[in-house]
Amino acid sequence: MNKIAILCSGGDVSGMNPAIKRFVEYSFEQGLKPYFVYGGFDGLIDNTIKEAGYSDVAGIIHRGGTKIYSARSTRFKEEKFRAIAAKNLRTLGIDKLVVLGGDGSFHGMELFFKEQNISFCGIPSTIDNDINGTQYCLGVDTALNVIKTATDNIRDTASSFKRAFVIEVMGRDCGYLALVSALTSGAEMCLIPEIPYDLDTIKKRFLREVKEGRNYFIAVVAEGLKNSQEIAQWFEKEIGFESRVTVLGHIQRGGNPTVRERLMAYQFTTYAIDALCSGQKDSVICYSNGAFESKSIKEITTKKYEIGEELLTLGKRLLQK
Ligand code: ATP
Repeated sequence: MNKIAILCSGGDVSGMNPAIKRFVEYSFEQGLKPYFVYGGFDGLIDNTIKEAGYSDVAGIIHRGGTKIYSARSTRFKEEKFRAIAAKNLRTLGIDKLVVLGGDGSFHGMELFFKEQNISFCGIPSTIDNDINGTQYCLGVDTALNVIKTATDNIRDTASSFKRAFVIEVMGRDCGYLALVSALTSGAEMCLIPEIPYDLDTIKKRFLREVKEGRNYFIAVVAEGLKNSQEIAQWFEKEIGFESRVTVLGHIQRGGNPTVRERLMAYQFTTYAIDALCSGQKDSVICYSNGAFESKSIKEITTKKYEIGEELLTLGKRLLQK
């Protein structure tokens, strides 16, 4: 029986557990013996690789995080440790690997494949949604829903007081989460690294709106700008509103996977196993314009992700109202 393994690398996301469940079930359906690598790339190096069965994935579909743990491995960045990782897989007779991870993990896998020729298929998994070649990464929908709930709650309190709330949203250098959150939560302001802004222009509009009766503000700011406190002070000084900063932080990674997330996990994993079974050696499953497609890892890693023009235009309009 051919053997296949799965691992999670980088930041954990909600949706990994449903993917792991589908992995076990679909592997069996395809006549493959499934294995879990516990603890990401460190698990490959330390040989924490175990055969998996149906009972391992019972009762996990609704849980955030990952049952098989994730890791950021500094050792995997060194060739000698990647060689140990490959040796461990070969000793167990595993020649196919499904990798759930972000941009960094895929750079690691590109090197690993070049050096060791072990077939892998990547499933984009990061709440930052910053992987080139795919419009969707696992974890994003759940994170957006967590942010939506938090922002709705903040709006309740904001509307009871004359205050400005600055909500800092994750995404590393990518403003996708902040932009979609701002558009879908009715924020008055959205600041992200991808859209230049002019505080003087925004000030004129806000002061006019205050005159017309506005008595609170919600501003969504991407963590990549590193200026949430500064924006809060700007509200106090320039707009004359008492302000509060809420850094949403790690709550954005948790929460039980949404329906969309579970379906995406199911489909991503099915496509990943199909890609490996059809002989593809170094691919990533991407989701664009409503369809799944397998792309070579080179296509993914040679360019930086950019938010789609249509969304960016909506973000710009929000600033120019
Ligand atoms: P997230 O977007 O959630 O942070 P990520 O996959 O981008 O996920 P990273 O911490 O950047 O998270 O990368 C995960 C792991 O991938 C690293 O700990 C390291 O083991 C490996 N990795 C990252 N970049 C490289 C690289 N250039 N060469 C080899 N391995 C790498």
